[in-house]
Amino acid sequence: MSSQRPILAVDVDGVISLFGFDETPEESRIEMVDGMMHCISLATGRRLLRLAEHFDLVWASGWEDKANFYLPRLLGVPELPHLTFDGAARFGSAHWKLGPLDEYGRGRALAWIDDNFDESCYRWAQERPEPTLLVATEPALGLGEVETEALAGWARSLERESAED
Ligand SMILES: [Mg+2]
Repeated sequence: MSSQRPILAVDVDGVISLFGFDETPEESRIEMVDGMMHCISLATGRRLLRLAEHFDLVWASGWEDKANFYLPRLLGVPELPHLTFDGAARFGSAHWKLGPLDEYGRGRALAWIDDNFDESCYRWAQERPEPTLLVATEPALGLGEVETEALAGWARSLERESAED
């Protein structure tokens, strides 16, 4: 039954780890990750837990397995599967995620939250045969209430559709 749930691919930088803000965000904590300071938005933890009621979550981030090393402890979320990118990860873009994400999500409805979508990401989403939703974040704000509700609402509409079938 769980394989019928949509996937939610979760970026970290610009979604959970915030940057580009003027004032330190509320409910955040500075954490050293590989010698780099990251400002982790703690509120994203309970939002991810809410989304996990509707989605099967997967880390889709250049953090790869490091996401599970740092984030469950900080955010109170379980360890998640993670995509790997074979050294293709680059800061400031997201198209290098498309190959692994496409393979991982094949045949399943999929939503993706990220701060770095470009044309190729939207084209990919449009061409996928399964329901697909891209939700963009502002890297200074990350996964907020608006994005959480957009994702949960989309998942609920899929649940209603499949209940009608
Ligand atoms: Mg990012």
